[in-house]
Amino acid sequence: MNQSAVLKPAASETGDPFLLTPGPLTTSRTVKASMAHDWGSRDASFVAINKAVLARLAEIVHGEGDYVTVPMQGSGTFAVEAMLTSFVPPTGKVLMLINGAYGQRAKRILDIARRKTVAHETAEDAPPELKKVEAILKRTPSITHIFVVHCETTSGILNPIAEIGALAAKYKKGYLIDSMSAFGALPIDAPAIHADAVAASSNKCIEGVPGLGFVVCRRDALAATKGNATTLVLDLYDQWANFEKTGQYRFTPPTHVIVAFHQALQEFDAEGGVGGRGGRYRNNCRVLVDGMKALGFELLLKADLQAPIIVTFRMPAHPRFVFERFYDGLKTRGYVIYPGKLTIAESFRIGCIGRLYEKEMHGLIAAVRDVLDEMGLTSLTAATTE
Ligand SMILES: *Cc1c(COP(=O)(O)O)cnc(C)c1O
Repeated sequence: MNQSAVLKPAASETGDPFLLTPGPLTTSRTVKASMAHDWGSRDASFVAINKAVLARLAEIVHGEGDYVTVPMQGSGTFAVEAMLTSFVPPTGKVLMLINGAYGQRAKRILDIARRKTVAHETAEDAPPELKKVEAILKRTPSITHIFVVHCETTSGILNPIAEIGALAAKYKKGYLIDSMSAFGALPIDAPAIHADAVAASSNKCIEGVPGLGFVVCRRDALAATKGNATTLVLDLYDQWANFEKTGQYRFTPPTHVIVAFHQALQEFDAEGGVGGRGGRYRNNCRVLVDGMKALGFELLLKADLQAPIIVTFRMPAHPRFVFERFYDGLKTRGYVIYPGKLTIAESFRIGCIGRLYEKEMHGLIAAVRDVLDEMGLTSLTAATTE
């Protein structure tokens, strides 16, 4: 056969493009391989695997003893909806701290469930204003809960969950956190920050495959949620009560996803848990940010607000920069990035999470340079003044 000059794209261990996205993510070969079996959902070996997964998830947020993990079949949003609709009673009112699409989505969930909310909304590049949050809590005693997104994946901003938790404790409010894109990479001490519930999923920083959400709940708070749920399937209390009674899911569990999650948790532990995983992502983020800045790209967020999870870049203004060509050029080279979701600025996003190392981040930067060349853009900074 003729050796052609066709570009050989970068690829994962299984020959797939690297996903530099906020989920689903690139997973290890061993996580994928663990799914090549069938399990009965009542099988003792599956029941034991599931139990180990749930116990480990609670430990990751220092919840041993006082907290329990309730899994929820589905994507991460199913877990967020289960958390909100199970914890907030019909008489409740939730202070929603919103600075992106996931905060908006959580409010929509409560609107549909006809639960009252009060929103404190800040720009997508600004954290909640704690003084204003406290003022709202002071003047609105009918508020029963506070909700916040830990890392708002819309921009990649890190929200101050500990400071908000201190306010929740001071004003005796329930505290519900969507930590979907941070769980396992950024430290969470659930008891110390007074969290009642922390929601996340199998396919973000733990690097499992998509299909299972979960909520780590303070046992006492969960016990008080009986009868709150607005749907049968998303009733966290009922799901938990059934586990306590039978060790089983009420409805068919995603068995393969849970076994892969178990494998992913073992790899997470082998990497050194939150410290090791978070450290790798911080390093990925550093290589990404330094490399992109050197090529003339600008970041949306100030450095102290940027979580090492996903980075938002402003869309270059140069007329020769066409995002579709940029995206396709990177895809051809084996790197899948993510369009922006901001309302305040044109942007695109590149994730630091998943089974990606420094080598892949350097590979991505080389590919970005190459695609810019192809578009006739050697330097974006020089280009904008043309
Ligand atoms: C990914 C994510 C979710 C859940 O999204 P799904 O598509 O339902 O898995 C929720 N909140 C945040 C902050 C996320 O990053």
